[in-house]
Amino acid sequence: MVRLTIDNQIVDAEEGMTILDAASKTGIYIPTLCYHESLSADGSCRLCAVEVIANGASGLVTACTYPVAAGLEVITHSERAMAARKLALELLLAQHPHSTKLQQLAREFGIAQPSFSLKEQECILCRLCVRTCREIVGAEAITFLAQGINRGTEEATVVHSYEKCIGCDACAYICPTNAITVKDVGDTRVLTVPSGRLEFKLKKCKTCGKYWAPEKQLDYIIKKANLAPDAFDNCPDCRD
Ligand code: SF4
Repeated sequence: MVRLTIDNQIVDAEEGMTILDAASKTGIYIPTLCYHESLSADGSCRLCAVEVIANGASGLVTACTYPVAAGLEVITHSERAMAARKLALELLLAQHPHSTKLQQLAREFGIAQPSFSLKEQECILCRLCVRTCREIVGAEAITFLAQGINRGTEEATVVHSYEKCIGCDACAYICPTNAITVKDVGDTRVLTVPSGRLEFKLKKCKTCGKYWAPEKQLDYIIKKANLAPDAFDNCPDCRD
């Protein structure tokens, strides 16, 4: 156990916890956007910025990635932390003004509208999709392309590999801004992603004739779980 203070409260946290874990456990709220408890932390959205004081020096860190340490003093709502969060949110909002999630956070932060404008884009580069595809699905079909750190994040993007993608739609589910969407039309699943459009043939149920899941996804599961080749001949409704 390590003892630290968060907003003047003494907190005993387990080694390896992050500031965000320790704050949540204590009931202290820190906003997040690119964080998900089932995925590795990334810190890319910077909405969880907090101020830490250690050995007489202070600095800003992302609460979702910064580990707790004995004697650490954390201030979650300092002027500096709030200014950093506000700027990060304004940048995101300027690029994606129609996102319900960002609008909700903007209300929380007291931002009526960003103080500057940027080229609008759907993807806010939170990389939740990249981590979901890699860590939950295991397909590693999405790559984050920074395109040169000095050329500006507006040129960065995420790219789906059609070869690796199985059309499971987990990335569309996790995307907070609908930059990835999925639609099943007849016998085809269409995944619309920042780098284009991917199509997948859907499997037809042998019993009821309904198209119910991408063939590629079912083949992937059969292979991974070592199931019989006919394991998914029927849809869940028609299975015994
Ligand atoms: S739809 Fe493709 S890219 Fe998205 S999570 Fe599934 S496998 Fe990965």
